[in-house]
Amino acid sequence: MYTFKGGTHIKEYKLTKDYEIERIEAPDRVAISMSQHIGAPCTPVVAAGDEVLVGQVIGTVPDGALGCPVHSSVSGKVVGTEIISGSTGNRETCVVIENDKEDRPSPEIKPPEGRITEMTKDEIVSVIRAAGITGMGGASFPSYAKINSAAGHVDRVIVNCAECEPFITADHRLLLEHPERVVGGLKTIMISLGVKEAFIAVEDNKKDAARRLAAVVGQSDMISVCLMKTKYPQGDERQLIYALTGTELPMGMLPMDAGCVIFNAGTCAAIYEAFSTGMPLVKRIVTVTGDCVKKPGNYIIPIGMKVSDVVNKCGGLVREPIKAVFGGPMMGRAEFSLDTPVKKGTSAILLLSELFDTKPTPDPECIRCGKCVANCPMRLMPAYIAQYSRLGDMASAEKFGAMSCVECGTCSYNCPAGIEIVQYIRSAKNNIKAEQRRIAALRQKES
Ligand code: SF4
Ligand code: SF4
Repeated sequence: MYTFKGGTHIKEYKLTKDYEIERIEAPDRVAISMSQHIGAPCTPVVAAGDEVLVGQVIGTVPDGALGCPVHSSVSGKVVGTEIISGSTGNRETCVVIENDKEDRPSPEIKPPEGRITEMTKDEIVSVIRAAGITGMGGASFPSYAKINSAAGHVDRVIVNCAECEPFITADHRLLLEHPERVVGGLKTIMISLGVKEAFIAVEDNKKDAARRLAAVVGQSDMISVCLMKTKYPQGDERQLIYALTGTELPMGMLPMDAGCVIFNAGTCAAIYEAFSTGMPLVKRIVTVTGDCVKKPGNYIIPIGMKVSDVVNKCGGLVREPIKAVFGGPMMGRAEFSLDTPVKKGTSAILLLSELFDTKPTPDPECIRCGKCVANCPMRLMPAYIAQYSRLGDMASAEKFGAMSCVECGTCSYNCPAGIEIVQYIRSAKNNIKAEQRRIAALRQKES
C-alpha cells in the first residue's frame, strides 16, 4: 500500500458516500464570480440587459494573462453585477443572470473537430483554456497553464482521487458513476504531454471506485490504479508524489521537479466533457453535507448558484449552522454568508452546527508533547513556528520552515493543548510574504 510519513487518521464522516449524484434545478438567479481561478480575475464582457445562453462566455482575461474565461451556467438575461466578499475578505465581482429556465445552449458549443490523438499540444491546450477549466480540487489553477508549464518537463501524470478530507464524497461518486470520464480526461492530458505513464491514486477507503477505474483502464502498460493508505493529508501533492515515487519535494520545488504533474479527478472529467460535447465548465459535482442540512447528498450544481438556494433545494435546514465551509473541514474556508455562490473549485458545502465547533482554549500553553512534530507531513516543528509567530519573531518562524507548511491542519487537529497552530503559521507566512514584497519593491525602486 502506498503511503507517506507523518499525517493522521481522522474520523471520516463520509455520510454521503452512498448517495448517487443528483442534478439540482438551477435557481431563478445565479451570481457568477469573475474570480474563479488563481491569476488575473476576469472582466465581464456582458452588460445588464444582454441575453445569454448556457456555455456563452461572460468574462475574459486579457491575452497573455494567467487565467481562462468564465461562461454562463444558465440561459436568460443579465441583470447587472454585484460585489461579494470572498472567504479571505477579498471583494469579487459577480455577473448576475436571471434564469429563463429554458436551458438554451450557446451555438458555439460543439466538440473540437478531428481526433484527439492527431491534435498537437497547443491545440489541446487551447480547447482546455477556451472551456475555462481550472483545478477542481480547490486550488483552481488554470489547467491549460499547468499543461503548458509541465510540457517537456514531466514523464508521469498523477490523477489525485485521494479525497482525504472528511465529509467530501463528490470525487468518490464521480469515480463510481463515471470512471470513463476521468480516464478519458487523463488520456487527453497524456496525449498533450506526450507522457507514457500515469497513476490514478485512490485511497483504500474507496476500493469500489478503484475497481471501477481498473475495469475502465483494462490491461494497460501505461496507466496504473494505485491504492493509497487512507491517511490525512494523502491528497497533498507532495505526499502523493512521495508515496508513489519515493521522491521528497522540499519547499521551493514543484511536482514537475520530480517529473510529475497532478490533476484532480473532477478536472479530468471536465476535460473529457470539453472534448466529447464541447461544453465548458459551467457546473460541477458538490457534496452538500453537515448536520444542518435536511437532504445531504452529491449534487450537480450550476456555477453561480448561491448556497442559500442550494440549501432550499436540499430541503432546507434542520438547525442553524454556525459555519458554512467551502471544501473540507481541515483546509476549507468558512464563508461570510449563505449568499456566497458556488465556484469552479467548490468541492463541498459543509453546514455545521455548534456540535462541530471546537471552542478555542483561552491562553493555551504548549505541554511539549511533540504530537505536532510527529504528525507533520512536512517534517516541521510546528510548535516552534507557532510560538515564534505568536511572539512576532517572523525571522525565526521563517528559519524554522514556516514557508514549507502546506497548511494541512494536522498539527492543530492533534494538539491536546488546543493551540490553533496552523492559524499562527498562516499568519507568519502572510507576514513573511508581505516583508518579501516590501523588500522586492524597495530593490526595484533603487535599481
Ligand atoms: S506545520 Fe503545516 S504542514 Fe505541518 S502539520 Fe501543521 S499545517 Fe500541516
Ligand atoms: S501538539 Fe500542541 S502541546 Fe504538543 S508540542 Fe505541539 S504545540 Fe505543544
